Amino acid sequence: MKIALLGYGRMGKTIEQIAIQRGHTIVLTVDKEDHDYDITKADVAIDFSIPTVAFNNISNCINHKVPVISGTTGWLQDYDKAVALCNEKQSAFIYASNFSLGVNIFFELNKILARMMSNLKQYDVSLEEIHHTQKLDAPSGTAISLANGIIAEHSGYESWKLDEIKEKTIPIVAKRIEDVPGTHTITYKSEVDTITIEHIAHNRQGFALGAVIAAEWIEGRTGVFTMNDVLNIG
Ligand code: NAD
Repeated sequence: MKIALLGYGRMGKTIEQIAIQRGHTIVLTVDKEDHDYDITKADVAIDFSIPTVAFNNISNCINHKVPVISGTTGWLQDYDKAVALCNEKQSAFIYASNFSLGVNIFFELNKILARMMSNLKQYDVSLEEIHHTQKLDAPSGTAISLANGIIAEHSGYESWKLDEIKEKTIPIVAKRIEDVPGTHTITYKSEVDTITIEHIAHNRQGFALGAVIAAEWIEGRTGVFTMNDVLNIG
């Protein structure tokens, strides 16, 4: 496949390595100084850029009917617009807050646990995420996906909030520590015990591999999909 990389930072470079290992060609690399480029050279585009430009990158691909995979976080206020545009243009699009296989399994485990805890009001849930100090958004997109998974399954919670404890609200703590690729911990605590589930990414390879697998999967398809479709889970 001919792949365009939109964003050539830590993730873009890791994706490049994995895509080449899997026999693909990188035909275009776009970073902050590059404005004039022909996206139609690519069979598929993979966007791991920054929150303020992600929607523009994605809509440019959709407008040119180039299937696009986006892992950029922090731009989700425009997600519904991207979905509507993709449906209108009959193009193809996948966003995932986290492309790693392990995290997508963790998302499902989180929902099952939330369903089981839903009637046990003696437990309070909380969420913690840790990432490297260069991360621009907080809480992480993965933490937001996890919180939304709990809200969908647990009758005791309606929203999430960073650094605040409020009724019916999942408190999220975001820590920034040098060189941490991504750690997410969900804790249910009662007076008598604590249940914890945790996902720890050891490096960026898992995210990059998932994004390349999603790019391979989307070729020839039309519509808006999620990693559950790609991995056939959930
Ligand atoms: P990074 O800062 O290393 O890379 C971002 C790159 O985007 C930079 O090189 C920057 O110059 C470039 N950029 C700026 N303006 C641009 C433009 N107009 N067009 C294209 N590129 C532009 O960050 P990173 O660690 O590679 O992460 C990128 C994004 O991916 C972040 O939002 C991060 O949260 C997210 N992320 C998602 C996953 C996932 O699995 N979904 C995993 C890791 C990181």
